[in-house]
Amino acid sequence: MLKKFLPNEHVETVLEITPIYLKDKGIKGVITDLDNTLVAWDQPEATPEIKEWFETLEQEGIHVTIMSNNSEDRVAKFSEPLDITFISKARKPLGKAFQKAQEEMGLRDDEIAVVGDQLLTDVLGGNRSGLNTILVVPVVQTDGFFTRFNRMVERRIFNYFRKKGMLHWED
Ligand SMILES: [Mg+2]
Repeated sequence: MLKKFLPNEHVETVLEITPIYLKDKGIKGVITDLDNTLVAWDQPEATPEIKEWFETLEQEGIHVTIMSNNSEDRVAKFSEPLDITFISKARKPLGKAFQKAQEEMGLRDDEIAVVGDQLLTDVLGGNRSGLNTILVVPVVQTDGFFTRFNRMVERRIFNYFRKKGMLHWED
């Protein structure tokens, strides 16, 4: 059952997720989390590196949607200047928002990667929807109020995986 929390891939930062990296895995669409995945949870705007990352993906024809459980205000202010499709108040790990993003992309399950920093929302949600999952190391070690409890649970899941020898990276 805990296997639903295990990501397919693990990277240090989204910047490692290049068009070549994705094409190699047959991925044509990316559903990415915002807080602590793209920028720190309390940083309102994209950094120049993240702007360039989006531009590169789009140039290579990769579909991108920003999907966050955070408020419309937060997610719109971040996404609109970048001209990137977004879904706020997504209620990850529930499947509805993933389904909506997938329908808009018009891609198969195996052609989509869900990218995020949390096992309990991003990875669990992506896995349950049958999509590829890529876990990233959180941009900063602090979290918004509602994420702190999730992190406690997450640490226990990591410990379990570590004991079972299922972790292939150091956290
Ligand atoms: Mg996050």
